[in-house]
Amino acid sequence: MKTIAIVLAAGKGNRMKSDVPKQYMELEGYPILYYSLKAFEESFVDEIILVTRENDIAYCDKELVKRYGFNKIKKIVAGGKERYQSVYAGIKAIENADFVYIHDGARPFLTEDILHRIQAEVEQSHACVVGVPVKDTIKVLNHERIVKSTPDRSLLWQIQTPQTFSYNLVKSAYEGLERMKIKTQEITDDAMVVELVKCHPIKVVEGSYTNIKITTPEDLRIGSVIIKQIMEQDHIHS
Ligand code: C5P
Repeated sequence: MKTIAIVLAAGKGNRMKSDVPKQYMELEGYPILYYSLKAFEESFVDEIILVTRENDIAYCDKELVKRYGFNKIKKIVAGGKERYQSVYAGIKAIENADFVYIHDGARPFLTEDILHRIQAEVEQSHACVVGVPVKDTIKVLNHERIVKSTPDRSLLWQIQTPQTFSYNLVKSAYEGLERMKIKTQEITDDAMVVELVKCHPIKVVEGSYTNIKITTPEDLRIGSVIIKQIMEQDHIHS
């Protein structure tokens, strides 16, 4: 069985309000993207395809792949303007695979446990994402910011990455996307493409509340606390 991870790092990270895209900002001396790549490099995944902006390919090759010896990174490809275009660029770069893991490069705290849980599930259901139950009450508003409804919280989950699929399923979903009249700016994750184009059920398995995406300066501060905790635990167990 061949498993390939597509790690996405082609975003601009406007919400970080920094000149450096968020995936290259540092946490405890290493770029955020380093931690996401390391999780896959040290896992059962066979190969990694890194998707970056065209102008960053040479930088990533020198400063990440060669510098840290990420041997599983077989290709670095240019992403697109929207996230789903970057995912499609990664899918097109795959020659053959059984399972594809799609992961945000800006989500550095992916654990081995999560990867094992998701692999066990994707072998059964062919489409599986990680998430966590929401803790707060969620309200749906209208454009005047008036509450329209309050959905049943016990059925609401916050969805993270990795999002994992059988290769043929995700490939044909993205190929089919162009033929469908879907507002592409509404596509916020990969499962949506498989749901909408293939009408395939998506299974959700438990991720972790620390598997956060670093999006704003505040996340960077929270991330720095999480990474220190992980380092302390690793130190205790080694
Ligand atoms: O912008 P957002 O926070 O949703 O980005 C999630 C991940 O997708 C980030 O790792 C980002 O680099 C990546 N991305 C991408 N191509 C884009 C937009 C986002 O690879 N066009």
